[in-house]
Amino acid sequence: MTYQRPNIEKMQGYSPGEQLNDPAVIKLNTNENPYPVSEKAQAALRNLDAASLRRYPPPLADDFRRAAAQLHGISPDNIMATNGGDELLRLILTTYVDSNETVAVTRPSYSLYPVLVDVQGCKLHEIDLQEDWSMPADFAQQLQQANAKLCILVNPHAPSGKLLSQDYLSELAAAFSGILLVDEAYVDFIAPEQNYQSVPLIDKHENVLILRTMSKGYSLAGLRFGYGLGAESLIAPMLYKTRDSYNTDLIAQKLALAAITDQDYAQSTWERVRQSRNSLTEQLNSLGFTVLPSHANFVLAQVPDKMDAKALQLALKERKILIRYFEQDRLRDKLRISIGTDAENDRLLEALHELLA
Ligand SMILES: *Cc1c(COP(=O)(O)O)cnc(C)c1O
Repeated sequence: MTYQRPNIEKMQGYSPGEQLNDPAVIKLNTNENPYPVSEKAQAALRNLDAASLRRYPPPLADDFRRAAAQLHGISPDNIMATNGGDELLRLILTTYVDSNETVAVTRPSYSLYPVLVDVQGCKLHEIDLQEDWSMPADFAQQLQQANAKLCILVNPHAPSGKLLSQDYLSELAAAFSGILLVDEAYVDFIAPEQNYQSVPLIDKHENVLILRTMSKGYSLAGLRFGYGLGAESLIAPMLYKTRDSYNTDLIAQKLALAAITDQDYAQSTWERVRQSRNSLTEQLNSLGFTVLPSHANFVLAQVPDKMDAKALQLALKERKILIRYFEQDRLRDKLRISIGTDAENDRLLEALHELLA
């Protein structure tokens, strides 16, 4: 006897990367920012008056929306705040995808998407990426053939770190009759030279939504704060109808506001991550791994010939270094490594050096 809906009974939950509380552990498995929370956000936490928690928080997180609107040069009506980016993903499905409709994603991609599709009880259509992780040339046709209502692309891509251009996304949005959700969880780590500018897409295309999160770029994974950007016609139904009554709490709103307005600090952490990413990529390649250039705060490293990726992950774990292994087609010979501080990356490289010897 079960009381679960049939789709829930059948499904598997999301399996997150391990969180160990041992401070000696080098944690390169869940793409957290290795640098501290902004001093301004830390001060906001210290100055928080616990008595203010007696009242409900501002329901729409208006101060945060105004600050984010200013940062992106758009109107607050184009923004909604959510309890982590993950809540936005769930809200988009709840608001826009009926149980007989289809969500299209690439394979591989963020492993939470299929879980949310199962929870919603709608259909999943997975489109394989090409050998080098680029999009198949007929991707737009495949979306139309699958009659997809929603297509979710993570850009930069996880777990490969590959970047799609805004021109590609714009053409795809124009060719697609459903909603195109661009999950930009890692957007902050794209080098400025790439000139990636996706926010104007929401003015140009009424079917584009963009996901942002404070978890990675702003070192606030523990806070649970993200936001969505899109045409008012896409944002308003989620903002005024399907959102939980008070979906972001007062503490999160205050800290997120402090962090997003401390751009100089945030950007300095992104630049350090980019530099470490480039040197880690080089050093892994010279150890015999195959690592393609990444635009995110992680790299996907194919292990040297005859090495077993899973065994390597376990051997590193014994040395208190956590990295991510995915038991999945095309990923079984690879490891996903989050970029740590230079000291952490050096410890990883030393351990790999020994293990490969
Ligand atoms: C981290 C991440 C998110 C959002 O994470 P939150 O912590 O819920 O904000 C969304 N998509 C991808 C691909 C991610 O890696």
